[in-house]
Amino acid sequence: MFATTDKLLISEIFYSFQGESTLMGQPTIFIRLGGCNLNCSICDTKYARKPINSLSSREILKLIKSFKTPYICITGGEPLIQKKNLKPFINELLKMKKIVSIETNGSILVDKLPKAIKKVIDVKTPSTGEGKSFDLKNLKHITKNDEIKFVISNKKDFDFSIEFIKTHNIQKFNVPILFSPNLSVKGLASDLVRWILKSGLPIVFQPQLHKLIKEKPIYLLTHKNQTTDK
Ligand code: SF4
Repeated sequence: MFATTDKLLISEIFYSFQGESTLMGQPTIFIRLGGCNLNCSICDTKYARKPINSLSSREILKLIKSFKTPYICITGGEPLIQKKNLKPFINELLKMKKIVSIETNGSILVDKLPKAIKKVIDVKTPSTGEGKSFDLKNLKHITKNDEIKFVISNKKDFDFSIEFIKTHNIQKFNVPILFSPNLSVKGLASDLVRWILKSGLPIVFQPQLHKLIKEKPIYLLTHKNQTTDK
C-alpha cells in the first residue's frame, strides 16, 4: 500500500521519551510510518505493517505543533518504503530546526536523505529470520551522525554481529555500534554484557529503555484513527 499523493501512510504518532540510540531519554515525538518490506520473527510493531492513516506534511505538523521538544523520530514499520514522500517532510522539519532521527531496517538504500538527520540503521540478526536482508550498499552512505544497531536474541546473533563488524570494518565509520538485548529472553542481558566486554570491541550495550520503564505515551494519532482528508 503506497501513498499516491504527497501524503504519508502512518500507523501512529505519539509523544514519549526516546528508548533507543544515543538520544535515549530525550522527550521525543515519534512518527510511526506504516508498512514494512520485512517480516521479522521478533517484530513488536506488527500492527504497523498495515497503515490506516494517510496525512500530508501540513496535517502532521499541525498535530505536533504544540509539543516543544526539538526531537522527532521517524520510525516504522519501515519508513524508507515511503522515501520519496518522506524527504520533503524531513526537509520541512529541518527548516523548523527539529533534530530528526530515522530508524530503518537496513534493507533499503539510505541514500538521498538529508545529511543533517541521524540514521539509526539496523543490521538484522539471524534470529529475526531476516539475517540476510542488509543492503551492503548502505555502508557507503553512513555519515558521522549515524548509528548501527544489532538486536541480539542469542549467542548465534552475537557471533553473527561481531563477524559482520569485523568483515565490513564497521569501526572505521567511527559511529556508535549498538547491541540491544532481546529483553524477552531471560538472562540474556547479563550474558550480552559479558560477551561484549570479552570481545574487546567498542560496542554500546543498549537495553530498550521504553521496555524497562513502561510509561504510556501521549497519543496524537492512534492506529485506530481513520484517514482524514482535508
Ligand atoms: S523491519 Fe521492523 S517493522 Fe519490519 S518486520 Fe522487522 S521489526 Fe517489524
